[in-house]
Amino acid sequence: MLEVDGGPRVLIDTTPDLRQQALRHGLSEVDAVLYTHAHADHILGLDDLRRFNLERGGPVPCYATAETWETLHQTFSYAFDGVPRLGGGVPRIAKHLIDGPFVVAGLRVTPVALLHGRMPVLGFRFGSFVYLTDCNAIPAESWPLLAGVDTVILDALREQPHTTHFTLPEALATAARIGARETVFTHMTHDLGYASTNARLPEGMALAYDGQSLEIQVDLEPA
Ligand SMILES: [Zn+2]
Ligand SMILES: [Zn+2]
Repeated sequence: MLEVDGGPRVLIDTTPDLRQQALRHGLSEVDAVLYTHAHADHILGLDDLRRFNLERGGPVPCYATAETWETLHQTFSYAFDGVPRLGGGVPRIAKHLIDGPFVVAGLRVTPVALLHGRMPVLGFRFGSFVYLTDCNAIPAESWPLLAGVDTVILDALREQPHTTHFTLPEALATAARIGARETVFTHMTHDLGYASTNARLPEGMALAYDGQSLEIQVDLEPA
């Protein structure tokens, strides 16, 4: 979750434990959701957006590629089929298609095309910060979008090879090429010991942890 002081809150992906995370961190409102891709571990908390509908008094603006929308429609057909239902209602989503850089709640966002095995997915750049989860390759055309990045969050699954995620050695090489001041690795499996792995990472690189908070510089659209 990205929060601008006194400004918008933008959530990236709706993970299956969104409800628990929102309770733990006092997250009661979001201004938008950006989806990286439609794998289960990134979308299955979508139904919990209902709570934010109540706080907002309206739909939550959600941003995704056409491919991601297609899977969201299949997985949450009841939220998109337009059939009126009794009871607590369905999540209300304002759909936005990502097809290039965009502005969300005053925040400038540059999508960064990544490869997650054969699947095209998105990373997101905000100012000098970039979030690159779920990938094992950065296509040539995306490298210029990473120039001058100060803080990066990058996929690093484990030591052993994997078909859709960077291994730790691959992530280290990728992080070195990006050259950010601070690199935080995410999406690790339990195979990676936390303290033992951190102890052998280069200066300026570390494994992420639950509830971690980073200060970043974003680009805001002039009001
Ligand atoms: Zn994935
Ligand atoms: Zn994932």
